[in-house]
Amino acid sequence: MLSYRHAFHAGNPADVLKHCVLVHCLDYLGRKGKPFFAADTHAGAGIYALETPARREEAGGRRAGQEWAGGIGRLLDAAGRPKAAAAGLPLLSRYLEAAAGALPFEGGGPGAAPRYAGSPAIIRSLLSLDQRGKQGRAAFFELHPADFALLAEEFGKGRRFMARQEDGLAALKALLPPPARRGCIFIDPSYELRGDYGAVKTALAGALRRFPSGIYIVWYPLLAGTDKPEKPGREYAAGLLSLYPGNRCLVELRTGPAPERGMYGSGLVIFNPPWTLKAALEESMDTLAALLSDGRGGWDLEWEPR
Ligand code: SAM
Repeated sequence: MLSYRHAFHAGNPADVLKHCVLVHCLDYLGRKGKPFFAADTHAGAGIYALETPARREEAGGRRAGQEWAGGIGRLLDAAGRPKAAAAGLPLLSRYLEAAAGALPFEGGGPGAAPRYAGSPAIIRSLLSLDQRGKQGRAAFFELHPADFALLAEEFGKGRRFMARQEDGLAALKALLPPPARRGCIFIDPSYELRGDYGAVKTALAGALRRFPSGIYIVWYPLLAGTDKPEKPGREYAAGLLSLYPGNRCLVELRTGPAPERGMYGSGLVIFNPPWTLKAALEESMDTLAALLSDGRGGWDLEWEPR
């Protein structure tokens, strides 16, 4: 039984990192003006109402969380505009622009709760931006019944988007390779179940065999004091990286020193990252880490081949 609800975490530092990279990869695929495919194996509800001190009540079934204040909130000024430090860096400013642009208009307006665009909203928006009318397709998977209901209501309509209450990792088998032969596979598990780490590795190995040219983005937590036998963190990431000898990278963002227990940051393993991502991360991560950690955190980037 899954109990994780992303609404409590939406817009937190982990979301900022993963969505910065997701936006960059989708923009890169979109540049060629040819259709591409996106799969979001762990989609969540899609759009989240953010809790503010003035709004502690439930908002339309999307129960709000406050972690965004320490995440995307640190990139914005009091008026909700990008802070100068973020505005000057394309990776961060483009993320803020894309995240805002991904929200459907209805429900906005004066007095409305601020909302955060999850990965399905970002994907739908960037697939639809194709100027030449060659639009791509996307598949979204979510197992939690309540989050799936919200996801399906907003993202289950139309021929180009598919939302299923299925195991997103198992679903990759039938989806890959996509007919477009170009695509981004976003794997963002909550790692709630004991077998999740192993399941990601197994699914990824199969997916890379079927679709070796795809861009894959896999999120993982940095956890201290865990008694989990799967050893999340760098060791887990190294196991994933070993699956594929081609272009690959790892980026980690620590929001503080490792505590005795709990999450102190997160990372992404990316296969076939756009070549433009390296410079974008190198110029942005100092600022991102400083904004999200009050100077107590840090970051790492490993790029293979160097
Ligand atoms: N990707 C979302 C975003 O960036 O906005 C957030 C996803 S959240 C971190 C992970 C989600 O995966 C949860 O909503 C959880 O219910 C769902 N989930 C867990 N295991 C799953 C599986 N095997 N297949 C599909 N969804 C799963």
